[in-house]
Amino acid sequence: MKKGKEKGKLFVISGCSGVGKGTLLKVFLDKNPQIELSISATTRKPRPGELDGVNYFFITKEEFKKAADNNEFLEWAEFNGNFYGTKEAYVEKKLSEGKNVILEIETRGAFQIKEKKPEAVLIFIMPPSLEELEHRLRGRNTEDETAIQNRLHEAYRELECSERYDYKIVNDNLEQAVEELKKIIYS
Ligand code: ADP
Ligand code: 5GP
Repeated sequence: MKKGKEKGKLFVISGCSGVGKGTLLKVFLDKNPQIELSISATTRKPRPGELDGVNYFFITKEEFKKAADNNEFLEWAEFNGNFYGTKEAYVEKKLSEGKNVILEIETRGAFQIKEKKPEAVLIFIMPPSLEELEHRLRGRNTEDETAIQNRLHEAYRELECSERYDYKIVNDNLEQAVEELKKIIYS
């Protein structure tokens, strides 16, 4: 009898806003295009240059609530006044096709995933220091002062959660951080 396709593995990446998750993942995924980055749904407004269906599925609060009520999310969370969630059907389809999938999500969502799927590998991206984190967040120029303060406040809470992750990577030198991520994903 023909053997079924082996299921893909699920990786969850978290880290404080501004730590460099997006930058790190872009470099890694450009070199490893066979790995899929899950596209989340969010009620946040797109930043300049962000595209619907590419960076996120941008939806309204009503649409989000309806999907949550229908149990369509594998996980979801509120972050800084907006809702973010991972559609279960979207991820399961890719895993069943044998693809390895990365979710780039915040800590509450990550723990919901670990509860539902203990085999998922949780990776936390650490800043070299809190000063450098603030510097990167401001340098990105995408948030106003209130949003920056909220994100820094969240950062302290998220750093405490990092203890519950399977792996931690310090994003100081970008190339080194990409290598570490590669080792974890292919180990
Ligand atoms: P996140 O996705 O975690 O919110 P970003 O990827 O948007 O963070 O990065 C925030 C800022 O930090 C960007 O301006 C990015 O260019 C910069 N950055 C990312 N990684 C590094 C690094 N290793 N060293 C210096 N700056 C970095
Ligand atoms: P941003 O607004 O900067 O794109 O994302 C804010 C936070 O939401 C980040 O920590 C990001 O990892 C997280 N996030 C993005 N998508 C999801 C998701 O589907 N679920 C959860 N729980 N968090 C998400």
